[in-house]
Amino acid sequence: VRFADFGLSPDILRALNDQGYVHPTPIQAEAIPIVLQGRDVMGAAQTGTGKTAGFSLPIIQLLLAHANTSASPARHPVRALILTPTRELADQVAENVKAYCRHTPLRSTVVFGGVDIGPQTAALRSGIEIVIATPGRLLDHVQQKTLNLSQTQILVMDEADRMLDMGFLPDLQRIINLLPKERQNLMFSATFSGEIKKLAATFLKNPVTIEV
Ligand code: AMP
Repeated sequence: VRFADFGLSPDILRALNDQGYVHPTPIQAEAIPIVLQGRDVMGAAQTGTGKTAGFSLPIIQLLLAHANTSASPARHPVRALILTPTRELADQVAENVKAYCRHTPLRSTVVFGGVDIGPQTAALRSGIEIVIATPGRLLDHVQQKTLNLSQTQILVMDEADRMLDMGFLPDLQRIINLLPKERQNLMFSATFSGEIKKLAATFLKNPVTIEV
């Protein structure tokens, strides 16, 4: 299989070419077609498997396919939200997403706690389709009305097990309640405890399980 076989936009393929990626990793080969179909996903994958591109590439493709043609930043609602447990992971995912979007009109940004909120607010004001965030700071932005999740069609929970270990469950529930009921959900976790299965059952709809 090659990336060119998935029907991804030439702008995405160009970015992959820039990165030097030719062949998808096993999780990418499994996840990309399923996410493109609009299905919910429960993914068992560790870091290092290529899971970031596995969810980012089809999300970018879905957003491009339903493009928002308005030029006004105010008309660029957040359409995809990627939640991560730590700022390090948020930064890493954001770097990947930025690289994959570089030849597209889509814009992304990252928000996490422990740093000045001002620059994040300015970035959000410029019209952002994809937000990568840690849960606490995301809720701060929602509270300050610098970020609106009412049109977010795709939710990713990356390293969900670590998010639970870090006590983010109440924040995750609050965030889920802010999203439209009609949306696509992707959850990735290295382990599948009872707690993780419970969380999955509350927010995934008829998910496809992917294991590599
Ligand atoms: P991840 O598991 O998403 O953190 O990715 C692990 C590493 O593999 C990252 O450094 C990626 O840039 C790289 N990578 C992801 N997908 C591919 C691919 N299809 N071909 C080559 N490298 C990749």
